[in-house]
Amino acid sequence: MYRWIDADVRIDKLTKKVLVIIEDGNLLLNIEKGERQAMSKTANKWNCNLHRYETCEIPEGASIYETDLSTPIECAACGKEIPYGESYTSMEIHTPSGLGYGVCHDCYLREIRRREDNNG
Ligand SMILES: [Zn+2]
Repeated sequence: MYRWIDADVRIDKLTKKVLVIIEDGNLLLNIEKGERQAMSKTANKWNCNLHRYETCEIPEGASIYETDLSTPIECAACGKEIPYGESYTSMEIHTPSGLGYGVCHDCYLREIRRREDNNG
């Protein structure tokens, strides 16, 4: 049986390769080579200038939730490794259903500044 899934199809302008990014962002299908490879995940990033979401790539180790606060995660914005318990819930980088990824303190402060500068 087949099932329908959401996928993001892109063409790499440099290599002319077709990239198919599957819903959860964990798989990338390279049509030219016919191979799948692990990659960074895709997420929605709020553009506070345009007031809309844009697709962005985030590190593979980015996380929205861990059961253990000491679990290392990668900041969804800058990729720095931090314990999950020291992360802040991003106001900009979200899953398709709107859950915020963990970001580091510095990136969270930058989000606050952008928000203040643009009134959300
Ligand atoms: Zn960061």
